[in-house]
Parts: sequence; C-alpha cells; structure tokens
Amino acid sequence: MRIVLLGPPGAGKGTLANLIKGKFAIPHISTGDILREEMKAESALGKKIKGYVESGALVPDEIIIQIIENRLTEKGAPREGYMLDGFPRTTAQATALDAILKKIGQPIESAIYMETTLPMIVSRLTGRRVCRECGAVFHMTNRPSKKGNVCDSCDGELYQRADDNEETIRKRMDVYLTSTTPIIEYYQKQEKLLKVDGNKESEDLLQELSDEFNENKAAHRD
Ligand code: AMP
Repeated sequence: MRIVLLGPPGAGKGTLANLIKGKFAIPHISTGDILREEMKAESALGKKIKGYVESGALVPDEIIIQIIENRLTEKGAPREGYMLDGFPRTTAQATALDAILKKIGQPIESAIYMETTLPMIVSRLTGRRVCRECGAVFHMTNRPSKKGNVCDSCDGELYQRADDNEETIRKRMDVYLTSTTPIIEYYQKQEKLLKVDGNKESEDLLQELSDEFNENKAAHRD
C-alpha cells in the first residue's frame, strides 16, 4: 500500500495518516515533520530551510526531492507500504517521485485527495496543537487532549506550530492553490485519484478508505 495524501494545509492529512498508520501498520512519511525535526536539531539543512518553512513558502524542489529520494531508497527503506504526507507539493516533485519509484519498481498506488473548505481550514489550523515529543495532532475544541496541555499518549508538551497563524496560513493557501492543485489533475490522469470529503471526521474517512482498499484487494484477487 503506497499512498500519497493530498489536500490543503488543515485538511486533516496528519490526523488521517495517524489513523491509517494504526490500522494498516504502514509508516507515515511527512516532509513537514522531517523539516521541523531538522530545524529543531539546528542541523545545516535545518538552518537552510527555516526561513521558507516559517514564512509558509515552499522549500526548493531540489532539496525536498533529495530528502525523499534518500528516505525511499536508503537501506531498510519501507517499500511495500507507506504514506507520503506533504509530498509531492509541485508537479516537478510528482514527476521526480514517479521517476524515483520507477527505478525501484514500486509505483504509487493511490493518491487520496482530501477536499475541504476555507473556513474549515482556518478553524482547524488556528486550533491545532501538536505534541513536541511524538508529533500527535490535537485540536483545542474538536480533538482536545484529555490531559489538557500535554499529549494523551506520551505526556509530551503540546505546542502551536509557528506557521499556524492567520497570516502564514493565508500564504500557505496561496502557495497551495498555485503550486499544489495541479497535482490533483496529475494523479487523476494516472487514474490513481481517490477523492474524499475532508470535512468529515477522520474516523469516518478511515472506515471509507478501509472499505475501498478491501474492495480493491478483492478485485485484484478475482
Ligand atoms: P506541512 O507540515 O506539510 O504543512 O509543511 C510545513 C512546511 O514545510 C510547508 O509550509 C513548507 O514550507 C515545507 N514543506 C513541507 N513539505 C514540502 C514540500 N513537499 N515541498 C516544499 N516545501 C515543503
């Protein structure tokens, strides 16, 4: 099961990815998480990309493509199944991804597109809180931690991402509309696009996707 998760910032990709990961036991590869870890570690890469991430701009294609190529081709890389979240974000990245996966004979199987509305996006992003330790995603009102300001599962501190403020959200939406929406058509042409309603609860979406994947499996067996 090799999946790409598509949708605007705040569509709920990270939350859905965590549920899919729990159910299907496949790794969740989030380029945003990888970049934030580099920034936290103050590595050379982290310093290089900080300005882009904090302002809501895209990190240059060549940097992000290299990161993904390493992740997907290094020794011990997950080949049979994974979810890519936040990548690809430009047509150049989508084309590069296909080329990388062609070399190892493991193409993407489905691109799940989470369609949602602007008011939903703003509400989700401004209320989002993330665990500093395990990366679990909460929402102040829709999905609060039972333990208040610490994570339900690991007691890590919950924080608000620096780019989850209204001004940067607007910038990220502009970037999404210009650079990322063409990818939807890219996967549609490849007949890999699976559209889901991003306004629904993640648990309901997980159920829909499980049914879809099971049907696909059955169809391949027939
Ligand atoms: P995310 O956590 O997916 O919302 O990503 C946070 C930020 O990381 C984005 O606003 C970009 O600055 C950067 N980023 C993540 N993935 C990519 C990508 N595939 N291409 C370029 N920049 C990215």
